[in-house]
Amino acid sequence: MKRVVIIQGKPGSGKGTQANLLSWAKGFFHFDTGKEVEWIVHDPHKQSDPIIQRERILWDGGKLMTPEWVLNFVTTKVQEIAKAGLSVVFSGSPRTLFEAFGDKNTPGLIQTLEKSYERENIFFIFLDVHSDASIFRNTNRKVCSICKIPVLANHPGDKCPICAGQLYKRVLDTPETIKVRLEEFENRTKPIIEELGKHNYSVNKISGESMPFEVHQKVLKILGYEMRK
Ligand SMILES: [Zn+2]
Repeated sequence: MKRVVIIQGKPGSGKGTQANLLSWAKGFFHFDTGKEVEWIVHDPHKQSDPIIQRERILWDGGKLMTPEWVLNFVTTKVQEIAKAGLSVVFSGSPRTLFEAFGDKNTPGLIQTLEKSYERENIFFIFLDVHSDASIFRNTNRKVCSICKIPVLANHPGDKCPICAGQLYKRVLDTPETIKVRLEEFENRTKPIIEELGKHNYSVNKISGESMPFEVHQKVLKILGYEMRK
């Protein structure tokens, strides 16, 4: 059975970590929208494309990308992943109501997923953390300069546990920018969760404050995996 998992939550709620765990443990394709978009706008073979040029300027300036372009890009990619027969987990999409549900001219991500995967195989997980935890985790988060793996906020030392590369602090993650990102989440992303109810989807709310492996076990249970003792 091929599944789709959409993980939502504040910045620092552990979306990326949980998506990675599903990818490593269960073979899901981890669709990290931010990373995918960064790669495509910096692809040397695409630099003559005026649309890529436009989006690259937005990306490099730290601005939000054009929602129609993002949706179109995500839709195309999702169809390829579905064709390849892979389960998929999203850690950064959809971010806006438009991305999720589209409008009268454009089908949203959820409609596309329903076509490729069937509605009953689509799962929504909401990782709930307090704003204090979100700010703490984000301001203390370190990323490996080599393999790009984010490490837990309480990781001791400055070496990556996977490849021993140097860890660094992301410059985006200052208390001020995190506040902005938290507001963005409340105003633009959270309405998706409310809207899903109207589309007869249930959103599985779990606490994102426990250890990642414990959250992972709860996620597997929601997805219907048998637990190994
Ligand atoms: Zn590393």
